[in-house]
Amino acid sequence: MTYIIGVTGGIGSGKSTVADLFAEQDITIVDADVIAREVVAVGEPVLDAIGAYFGPEVIAADGSLNRAELRQRIFASPAHRHWLEALLHPLIRERMIADCQQARSAYCLLVVPLLVENQLTDLCDRVLVVDVDPELQIARTVARDNTRTEQVQAIMDTQASREERLSAADDVIDNNDQDLSQVKTAVLKLHLKYTQLSQAKGE
Ligand code: ATP
Repeated sequence: MTYIIGVTGGIGSGKSTVADLFAEQDITIVDADVIAREVVAVGEPVLDAIGAYFGPEVIAADGSLNRAELRQRIFASPAHRHWLEALLHPLIRERMIADCQQARSAYCLLVVPLLVENQLTDLCDRVLVVDVDPELQIARTVARDNTRTEQVQAIMDTQASREERLSAADDVIDNNDQDLSQVKTAVLKLHLKYTQLSQAKGE
């Protein structure tokens, strides 16, 4: 059984930045966002089910999912959103578990933006939260995505609060400093700790 570290944090908190630093230590990264795209890729049977439920408009001419159209449909109807989540969440969960179990590194990182919101902490041996002040979180996301503060705030409002997320944390990385050297040191320390914990679990 792979030792699994769940990594979470709000939009633009620095999850990818932190995961990249663990990858430099040859740790396998399993990314929930990547899996969520893979399960609805062209040729996946679930795409046909989505087309049958929402209508052909949600499938683009090239057979791929028309995400903008689908987003509009589920935005307009909580029942439709629930239907889609009931279809996709078990598949995503299964694939996350399978990918983690295939990892060959001492432990694996499971990066899930909505780990707390979707009650996925039970998949993890430990939860690592990437924490940042909301003002910085907004400024970095606005700069990265070339978007507006209000749009980022609207997404933050749908996510767990900073306090809710921190209360689920076993470990926290403070990503407020502009200079990444403190984060790098924190990652190296945690890498050592996780390697030891995974060995202890395997014994
Ligand atoms: P999302 O959930 O939206 O995908 P994320 O949590 O993975 O985001 P990142 O993409 O890692 O966040 O970081 C958000 C932005 O902030 C990126 O442009 C990244 O380069 C930048 N960033 C991350 N950490 C720092 C830091 N310590 N100092 C300055 N910029 C940072």
